Amino acid sequence: MESLKKVAVIGGGIAGAQAASLLKGMDVTIIAGESYLPYYRMRIGEIISGKDPQTLLMHPSSWYEDKGIRIIHGRAERIDASACRIELSDGSSIDYDYAIIATGSEARTLSLPGGRKESFVLRSADDAISLRRALSSADSFAVIGGGLLGLELAMEAAQSFSIPVSVVESAEHLLPRQLDRDSAAAVQAYLQGKGVEVLTSAETSSADDSFVYLKDGRRIPAAVLAFSVGVIPSKDIAEKSGIKSGKGIIVDHHLMTSAPRVYAAGDAVELDGRTFGLALHAREMGTAAAKAVMGEEVEYIPSEPSALLKIGGMDVASFGTIDGEMRVEADGNRRRTLFIRDGIVKGAVLINDKAGMMAVKEMIGKPF
Ligand SMILES: Cc1cc2nc3c(=O)[nH]c(=O)nc-3n(C[C@H](O)[C@H](O)[C@H](O)COP(=O)(O)OP(=O)(O)OC[C@H]3O[C@@H](n4cnc5c(N)ncnc54)[C@H](O)[C@@H]3O)c2cc1C
Repeated sequence: MESLKKVAVIGGGIAGAQAASLLKGMDVTIIAGESYLPYYRMRIGEIISGKDPQTLLMHPSSWYEDKGIRIIHGRAERIDASACRIELSDGSSIDYDYAIIATGSEARTLSLPGGRKESFVLRSADDAISLRRALSSADSFAVIGGGLLGLELAMEAAQSFSIPVSVVESAEHLLPRQLDRDSAAAVQAYLQGKGVEVLTSAETSSADDSFVYLKDGRRIPAAVLAFSVGVIPSKDIAEKSGIKSGKGIIVDHHLMTSAPRVYAAGDAVELDGRTFGLALHAREMGTAAAKAVMGEEVEYIPSEPSALLKIGGMDVASFGTIDGEMRVEADGNRRRTLFIRDGIVKGAVLINDKAGMMAVKEMIGKPF
């Protein structure tokens, strides 16, 4: 009997777990760099308010055993594509017929002068545990970066710890890529009402162990400081293995890297000069890479992203391009803004309008 093809998936995040779960009739190993089984990364903010990381696991260990998926907790260092072998940092190695690199991304930080000793990011369950520990004995918290993740983090901290929480954002208003100015003002007012101080047009200049200092002379209390200023694709393994990379690990529309039988998926990837950073694309690419490995014809086209944000009791959704003539409908705390260019609906922002979400999403790209 012919033996099963061996597939090694490097990274047990969203893309890696998705790919592994879809590979049928193959001998699958996930090389997971973290000590946990694959978990819902998007929910790690809940650890800050006291949730046990084990409750965020995608599946219990028996699920992987039943599917015959082996999980090795370790770090893949290098791929020897000519020998079809992955070398791990503990000196062991794994042979493969196909490999999928799904190493995700790392949180970016800023290096600020001023001698501050410690700062945090929120990327992994362990990061969330460290943040919770630090916040539980702190008297203030500042988040640098008012993107989706920064706002969620600030809100989670404000709800769980009775300390001043500030968000420092360099743009003129919050979420400039996802929201128009008025919708952003509504979000900002809501956050302020929940005890999160939002500073916009705020450029950081330095930080010591107590404060973050802004270029305009203000200082923000920051016994604990976290950065939420974007991500950097984790491409080191490609660099060490002679696999083509740029901003990320370069793939074609079949998710093939420059090495034979080696695919890549998720945040780690660069496709047509673009990197990603969303669970939506990580899941799609995990699916596409699994199909490609199983011999199906794959032509991956990334879906149009949408941003959904739940800030305490406020629901915010943003679709398409936030640019063009605005049509606003507001009613109490519900607000719907459509962006129209050349008679076509290009984008939309909805606040507290969950019921209208599907219908509005359908309108994007169609005549108004
Ligand atoms: C708090 C938070 C909230 C988020 N919220 C949203 C949201 O609301 N909507 C959305 O679309 N996206 C969200 N994201 C982004 C989303 O989580 C990522 O886009 C997604 O996780 C990317 O999946 P991935 O599999 O490519 O990488 P990851 O999920 O980052 O997984 C990569 C895994 O590979 C491991 N790894 C790295 N290098 C190696 C190696 N050499 N050997 C072995 N293992 C390795 C890493 O440790 C990690 O476990 C959020 C992210 C965070 C942190």
